[in-house]
Amino acid sequence: MLKCIGMAGNRSGKSSNAKGLWRFALIIATVGISCFSVTCAAEQNRVGIAVCSTTQVADFVRQVVGDRWEVQSVLTPGSDPHTYQITPADVQLVKNATLCFENGLHLEGADWMKNLAADAGKKLVTCTDRIQPIMIEEEGQAVPVRDPHAWFDPANARIYVLNILDAVVAADPDHEREYKARTELYLGQLRNLNAWIIKQVNALPRERRVLVTSHDAFNYFCKAYGFESAAPEGWSTGAEVGAGVTPASRAKAIESIRKFGVKSIFVETSVNPEVIKQMASEAGVQVGGSLYSDSMGPPGSAGETYLGMMRENVLTIIQALE
Ligand SMILES: [Zn+2]
Repeated sequence: MLKCIGMAGNRSGKSSNAKGLWRFALIIATVGISCFSVTCAAEQNRVGIAVCSTTQVADFVRQVVGDRWEVQSVLTPGSDPHTYQITPADVQLVKNATLCFENGLHLEGADWMKNLAADAGKKLVTCTDRIQPIMIEEEGQAVPVRDPHAWFDPANARIYVLNILDAVVAADPDHEREYKARTELYLGQLRNLNAWIIKQVNALPRERRVLVTSHDAFNYFCKAYGFESAAPEGWSTGAEVGAGVTPASRAKAIESIRKFGVKSIFVETSVNPEVIKQMASEAGVQVGGSLYSDSMGPPGSAGETYLGMMRENVLTIIQALE
């Protein structure tokens, strides 16, 4: 924009070329100023800063608050919430938060988001509150544990969003109508997503609905849409709770591949793909593609939103298994 004003200052005002340039500069300057004004207006109208643990949680929060809040995510696309180690920058980020949001059910390994919020004296919203968790058997654990990957069922995503709405309205009741209006629109989109997934999955015969992935992230998706699931890693990719790959879990996953005659197995965006690649070669099946699991895609990718990541996952799964 400054450059445009500079060009205007240097114009000769004589040649038609210069006139054209002057007009161009004026248009650019006007567009620049109006964009700048919009950004300023959005920033000036902001009432809070939401600091979220994961990219999915940040997307759900953004759907409710729009530009009214600044929304930040501690995890960047592609990072693993189970094994994440907090940094001094995260501590600083949470210090400035109006509200903190986490997935909960120990997705954030060793409860790093709970600890960040508690240390900064900030209110923490657990988005999986009121969700009925799937209980899973974990090797080395005496009792079943709660599976934290609840967002993979859009019916649960609805509960995440309603929990966020409650917290945001409580923090800023002046804009309740606005938050509820955004939520209403988004819940409609989640219902559409669910209906669309059912339609897509119905094209796949039941016996082909077997999902083998790097780690046990897809139990909620599998339960909602009638898939069998298997993964060489437990529900956690780290060793803090649950475990990584064990010979027994690996053997069990390979057994599932053979038993069900699976054509393809899948790697995940937030987990090292090596184990799946080796297993695919060992079992003589193909790698069907990469699924968004504990993290959404980077900005500009098809998976940069929850709706986008679910859509792309479903299409990848259907294409590889049909
Ligand atoms: Zn996970």
